Amino acid sequence: MTFVFLPSAQAAVPVAGSTELFPVHRIYCVGRNYAEHAIEMGGTGREAPFFFMKPADAVLPVTDGSIGVMPYPPMTQDLQHEIELVVAIGRGGKDIAVEDAVAHIWGYAIGLDMTRRDLQGAAKKLGRPWCTGKGFDYSAPIGPLHRHAPTGTISLHVNGMPVQTSVLGNMIWSVAETIAELSTLFELQAGDLIFTGTPAGVAAVKRGDLLEGRIEGLGSLQVRIDQ
Ligand code: MN
Repeated sequence: MTFVFLPSAQAAVPVAGSTELFPVHRIYCVGRNYAEHAIEMGGTGREAPFFFMKPADAVLPVTDGSIGVMPYPPMTQDLQHEIELVVAIGRGGKDIAVEDAVAHIWGYAIGLDMTRRDLQGAAKKLGRPWCTGKGFDYSAPIGPLHRHAPTGTISLHVNGMPVQTSVLGNMIWSVAETIAELSTLFELQAGDLIFTGTPAGVAAVKRGDLLEGRIEGLGSLQVRIDQ
């Protein structure tokens, strides 16, 4: 017996300064991990963050120095940007202690948790899942992985204008706390990516816009929304 299709390609992310690719297992995302963003989303900024997922093949890998092109997704009038620090897991585990969490990290990258906000908003109102708002094709543009931990500022410019700016220290759950928390719910595996949440300033993008995310120590991630 033979299959009538070929297996799809393994989703993968570039590695900085190398031709190696990091194979992606799962994509976890943290919701409302910066108080100011939680408030702009209608929360108080004091609730605990939470998790959702995107499919692994939602990644849109962008190599160093190039501009990724993201197709404008169907069925939305409100595609929004969320700049985020992404953590790549190199060693799996469950019930990981906060003080052991950093040893499970393989690297760090800049990512965009692109969101069909209108579909997400409708789902929230009806108590339905977020898959269509968050987990669509090409919804996770990501730059190359770096081995060292970043500190300092995270920002996003759209067409050269600053729209999101914060410091990584403003995260409600630190990277180590996020890994510890997530590992109580799922057994983490090598290849998992964790989008660690976005600061305030999320807004709509339009066709042709140039997004440039920066995190101190990780360079920049450039993505153009296709015409
Ligand atoms: Mn997000």
